Amino acid sequence: MKERNEAALVPQEEKDRQQGFMDEVASLGGGKYEIVTYGCQMNVRDSQTLAGLLEGMGYRPAARREEADLILFNTCCVRDNAERRVFGNVGHLQAQKKANPRLVVGVCGCMMQQEGVPEKLLKSSPFVDLVFGTGNLYKLPELLLSVLKERRRRVLVDQNPMAPIAEGLPASRHGGVQAFVNIMFGCDNFCSYCIVPYVRGRERSRAPEQILAEAEDLARQGVQEITLLGQNVNSYRWSDGTDFPTLLKRLDGVVPRLRFMTSHPKDLSDELIETMASGRSICKQLHLPVQSGSNAILQSMNRRYTAERYLELVRKLRAAMPDIGLSTDIIVGFPGETDDDFEATMELNRLVRFDSAYTFLYSKRQGTKAAAMENQVPEETMKERIYRLIAQQEAITQEKLRSMIGHELEVLVEGPSTRDENAYMGRTDAGITVNIEAQGLRPGDFALVSIASAGMNTLRGTVKCVRSR
Ligand code: SF4
Repeated sequence: MKERNEAALVPQEEKDRQQGFMDEVASLGGGKYEIVTYGCQMNVRDSQTLAGLLEGMGYRPAARREEADLILFNTCCVRDNAERRVFGNVGHLQAQKKANPRLVVGVCGCMMQQEGVPEKLLKSSPFVDLVFGTGNLYKLPELLLSVLKERRRRVLVDQNPMAPIAEGLPASRHGGVQAFVNIMFGCDNFCSYCIVPYVRGRERSRAPEQILAEAEDLARQGVQEITLLGQNVNSYRWSDGTDFPTLLKRLDGVVPRLRFMTSHPKDLSDELIETMASGRSICKQLHLPVQSGSNAILQSMNRRYTAERYLELVRKLRAAMPDIGLSTDIIVGFPGETDDDFEATMELNRLVRFDSAYTFLYSKRQGTKAAAMENQVPEETMKERIYRLIAQQEAITQEKLRSMIGHELEVLVEGPSTRDENAYMGRTDAGITVNIEAQGLRPGDFALVSIASAGMNTLRGTVKCVRSR
């Protein structure tokens, strides 16, 4: 029997139909494209699929926006200011569209799944040709063909929370040493501040065989590190009994490094901790969003764990993996957050001492439960609090990074440093960024680096020896 969160697949006939549209678009001669991606890793991965589809239709990446024949905005709606940015950036294309009426402008992603937003966008930017939602990505060939041939606007937003998954779509990853692999889509948790379940639908897992095949294919292409993606990877499951720890065990060793995100604390099992600790290639790194240190706020957020339970998880993780890199997300100023609630967050941070923390001011998202809550916290108060939290975290991060000076750490080289032409950049198993002073390293090399200094968020060192792939 099909498990409730097992993803339904787009039928082969539909995929064949889309392939026909792809061939037809390709016969029109292609052009140059630009994709502008907002938001999280899920969107980055979706943009790779969009790029793969476009390249399959004869399009090539544009070096500069002015050269593009097609510009796609893959949007995010997790924060309120993202919407303003997207509307602003799409609006800026009006002049380019006027100068080049053949330019195709498309907008897709989470924001287009929000009720009323596509209409609002089309009103403010009537020159937009193409709008589609997260569940309709695979229909890009069909939509694009009708824009190109019929010169008419196409809008396709599907609100089906169990939208089927299209397996086997091309992805353009441009040969990096790292890759993202989706293991599931959507979320069932309905944290009271979060819009994701409304725009990405319910939890749907991919078949383990499909995930394994994609990972093996990436390994053959030279990928050294895979990050498994899902809104809550811990609730992955498939009808043959595969849960997330089992899936990790099956993937362990396919590439030298395996990471995953994001983990919900309520679903972090002892078995997962054991699997991480004993895994050959599973990085000792975990992003475990805590969001608040106050039990009253956690309850109001519908997070379904307490601060005590979270601290217990951290204790278990560090007992099993003493060098684990732990990062988190914290929301400051959730409705009803009192001074005492905020102090509880500061206290939890003092106790855990995260390696890094992504701190956010609470952002009201229409349609979520929290948006309708009374006692919203004044912005001034939120800001005062977040500055204190950031200062606390910076001090902890600094202390931790400095304690690594003099140590030797293995670093996977990702490429030349963007800030320093005499250095390379890579990351440790625990996820710390290291700038390496060296000559002749190649992306994909594993370098043993002697740490000489610490910056605000990064380490710096020299190479002791290199293991090439
Ligand atoms: S777990 Fe909560 S915060 Fe994360 S995507 Fe799901 S609803 Fe949003």
